[in-house]
Amino acid sequence: MLVQSTRSDYRTDELNAVLEGLAPDGGLFVEPELGSRPFAWQDCLSLSPLDMAERILRYLLPGFAGMGELVRRAYEGKFETEELTPLVQVGEDYVLELFRGPSAAFKDVALSLLPQLISAARSQTGRKGDTVILTATSGDTGKAALEGFRDVPGTRIFVFYPGGGVSEIQRLQMVSQEGSNVCVCAVRGNFDDCQSRVKQAFAALREDGELQRRDFRFSSANSINIGRLAPQTVYYFSAYAALVKRGRIRCGEPVDFTVPTGNFGDILAGWMAKRLGLPVGRLICASNANRVLTDFFKTGVYDKRRSFYRTASPSMDILVSSNLERLLFYVSGGDTALVRRCMGELERRGCYRFPEEEMARLRESFAAGCCTEAETEETIGRLWREQGYLCDTHSAVAFRVAEEYRGDAPMVVLSTASPFKFPAKVLSAIGEVPPEDAFAQMARLAACSGVPVPRGLRGLRGKPVRFAEEIGPEEMIGYIAAKLLRERE
Ligand SMILES: *Cc1c(COP(=O)(O)O)cnc(C)c1O
Repeated sequence: MLVQSTRSDYRTDELNAVLEGLAPDGGLFVEPELGSRPFAWQDCLSLSPLDMAERILRYLLPGFAGMGELVRRAYEGKFETEELTPLVQVGEDYVLELFRGPSAAFKDVALSLLPQLISAARSQTGRKGDTVILTATSGDTGKAALEGFRDVPGTRIFVFYPGGGVSEIQRLQMVSQEGSNVCVCAVRGNFDDCQSRVKQAFAALREDGELQRRDFRFSSANSINIGRLAPQTVYYFSAYAALVKRGRIRCGEPVDFTVPTGNFGDILAGWMAKRLGLPVGRLICASNANRVLTDFFKTGVYDKRRSFYRTASPSMDILVSSNLERLLFYVSGGDTALVRRCMGELERRGCYRFPEEEMARLRESFAAGCCTEAETEETIGRLWREQGYLCDTHSAVAFRVAEEYRGDAPMVVLSTASPFKFPAKVLSAIGEVPPEDAFAQMARLAACSGVPVPRGLRGLRGKPVRFAEEIGPEEMIGYIAAKLLRERE
């Protein structure tokens, strides 16, 4: 199957796209004809979770041999429940719990599989040199990627996170990471600084003669990698299947989804599910105080020239939402010149306007809303008091926005992190005074909620810190090169 860049007619196959991460012109890889090959989506609704994943992924990434085996290696025994992503009823709504994996955030769903895809692509294409994974994280991708790639032969992984921009638990998860092929570093800056330098690093490091001679190849674990989006499509199907099974809907009736959004990867996967035929009604894009996407959907103007807020939902503190580019490609009918112009303007001037006709098409499938810090906190407290349901800060943003959009179709709210990753915020929101120490906070949360601390977080206490460095964004590229060259000597 051929995939192409969003910014030109550069084409390659999906194996190379997963290995390369980003197209050479800076665009993202997309399957231009997504959804045009026939797909019997109804048939996968009755399958077991792993078989369903295999069926959908075989369709989305047909070039990979042995997908069933890759899926089993990725997921079997790694999640807290056999369903992988359980659907829970809370009041009138449904919550899709995506945080039952090893790092307690939804990133585990995709990042458990991505290393398997990269290994398979390496062996199918006969690549010899090491694949180096460069990752910018707003908090959750980092740990999930480190866990997925640790000690995977032929790979190395670098993770950069905004120093002071992640929760204490998120930081501890990363700096204590085990594995011989991992490197974690704090950056003085925010997530956008990390992400834009990582994007520049691909171009710079690919042209470095010394690194080339040593056969290093670079790829990405961020949702700019097409291998991250495909696995996320699966849980939209599993949520739909659960609603049919419970008799809440008949097969074919629409379901709305509200998605707490940062880099637009999670919600784009919902749109991909819709292209595959799943009766997705509306996709509601929920933002925190960094409401650049809400404004875009309302006005058609994407403008990143605004204050950046550090919120209680740090994984959504993003002003440049990368995967929106893929949506622009699709709704403009693959107009790469238009996408290239918009992305160029975003880089040069910090904003662009998307044509009204295309915006209208976009609004047929998407709606958007945002929520303040006070509303996030109020929502966590209210859900706990009224429904006995404990949710994290990111999921609370989605809950709040979902309330504005509730209609005739069932509403599924995607819950992206365990409340135990943000214990101080969640404790204050439910009216408790959080203790100083993050572990005491988790214990208090468990005691007053009766919900056990997730396995992966319980084990963090007392783990030695392996990575304590902090550098400026301008040092990142040199840092990567130096580490790689030093290691080989
Ligand atoms: C990454 C993340 C998000 C945002 O997902 P995108 O795919 O970047 O839109 C939301 N919530 C949590 C907890 C996350 O880790």
